[in-house]
Amino acid sequence: MRNIARCVALVVIITLPAFAQSQATPPDRDVVFQASTIGALLDGVYDGDITLGELRRHGDFGIGTVNGLDGELIVLNGAFFSVTADGRVHLLPPAVSTPFAAVTPFQTDRVHALRDVTSLDVLKQQIDAVLPTTNIAYAIRVTGVFTQVKTRSVPRQSRPYRPLAEIVESQPTFEFENVAGTLVGFRLPGFVAGLNVPGYHLHFLADDLSGGGHLLECAVEQATVEIDDSRGLFVALPATEDFDASDASQERKEELERVEKDSK
Ligand code: ZN
Repeated sequence: MRNIARCVALVVIITLPAFAQSQATPPDRDVVFQASTIGALLDGVYDGDITLGELRRHGDFGIGTVNGLDGELIVLNGAFFSVTADGRVHLLPPAVSTPFAAVTPFQTDRVHALRDVTSLDVLKQQIDAVLPTTNIAYAIRVTGVFTQVKTRSVPRQSRPYRPLAEIVESQPTFEFENVAGTLVGFRLPGFVAGLNVPGYHLHFLADDLSGGGHLLECAVEQATVEIDDSRGLFVALPATEDFDASDASQERKEELERVEKDSK
């Protein structure tokens, strides 16, 4: 197993010291740590060299996927869950590796009540309305009893790997009604394009672990959003032949839109 220090090849720091000093939390807790890039994932780099155990040292909250693209990853309260293509939730051991994930030590900086959320777009608008700026990273945790949730997962892949945009065309989707659960994810600035998903990227996990996945749509009458402001973004690039050989020259904006959104 490779030491993470050896595969760190790129560091992106978003920092505004004057503002950072006024924050109550220590700066090292306000870093989003991500393994690999969304561009590499879109290009079919589905095996990474960082384990969930190593990822845990950088945060207890986040999202991603696991090696072989074997489901959607949710990191909540320090536990790692995957939602596989059959819709089932699995508690993952620390030895599992990930090709793409982002985590942070979640500390609530802001709490707001959400009301009458009739769609995912409304959810985004209500959260955006309480953010002081859209130029920094936010970890987003929304808890409530959702009247409606639609998610998707991805089927495990075998080599030779196809690009992600082809795979999600046959993605299994799941619908839930009146389900207690948590939305887990991030809202990132537009300038992360190529590295991660600009804007909102949320996964869902039902409280009773009956399901979850990459969030496509939701509705909730009353919910609570907790927001963790982050002014640091750390990108650990995999030390793998696949990553080195991938095409990192494009931003892949259209592919990302197809992958992130509901195609139906
Ligand atoms: Zn996702």
